[in-house]
Amino acid sequence: MPELPEVEAIARTIEPLIAGRRILATRLLHPIVARNSPCDTDGPLSLANARARKVIGVCRRGKYLLIELDRGWLAYHFRLSGQFVWYDRRRPLGHVDFALDFPSGTLGFVDERHLGRVRWLDRPEDLPGIARLGLDPLSRDFSGERLAGVLRGSRRPVKLVLMDQEKIAGLGNIWTAESLWQARIDPRRRAETLSGRETRDLARSVARVVRRALKSCLDPAPDFRNPEWWFENGDKMARVYAREGRRCGRCGAVIRRVEQGGRSTYFCPGCQR
Ligand SMILES: [Zn+2]
Repeated sequence: MPELPEVEAIARTIEPLIAGRRILATRLLHPIVARNSPCDTDGPLSLANARARKVIGVCRRGKYLLIELDRGWLAYHFRLSGQFVWYDRRRPLGHVDFALDFPSGTLGFVDERHLGRVRWLDRPEDLPGIARLGLDPLSRDFSGERLAGVLRGSRRPVKLVLMDQEKIAGLGNIWTAESLWQARIDPRRRAETLSGRETRDLARSVARVVRRALKSCLDPAPDFRNPEWWFENGDKMARVYAREGRRCGRCGAVIRRVEQGGRSTYFCPGCQR
């Protein structure tokens, strides 16, 4: 599932392909990706507002990818398996749910599981999921002090607070697990019990982990022309995520998996306290 680093890499890589270009046509092939609910008709219809608009730029907020138009915005959420595929003029479309036709080719939003979503918006903040986003780990404001403000008074496990998009924007299961391992903090700890030093370590670890992940996502950068493209280096970077039963590279203890909030949490009982 694309988290902050993956979506940021997609935004930076797709921008040169479409910035300054005008959208000739929009094609919604599978309307489900534009629906808020099963009977929502406004969502699918509103996507036509992007037709004839010029792309100003591409950016990310949390795990949302935003295409800024000369009037309005398109907001994409990739969820588990959504992705972009670029089709040159001569190449026929494969499975595409929503297509933007440019003079130079077509940007397809593809999600065979139909969990990803695309919306047209007047302003990004019109989408509650964007308006309520918390602190972004790539922003200059992200610091131990700001993180302390987020964790203070919270009795929830620290991992679930880090994954709460209204607290910290963009972290998901993988990079949260890696950040907590880097900071040697047990993901089950109640957030309010972290000391000032642990909180500063955690903020540094989060910032370092997402920056390193972003770098690996850009090298090699996504190849949107290959419909099978996906990030290759994330798994190689993981020191604890999805490594249940294997030995911790830092202390040699056996990595454990527990469930938190319905998702798997991986951690090392030897060195995460
Ligand atoms: Zn360990």
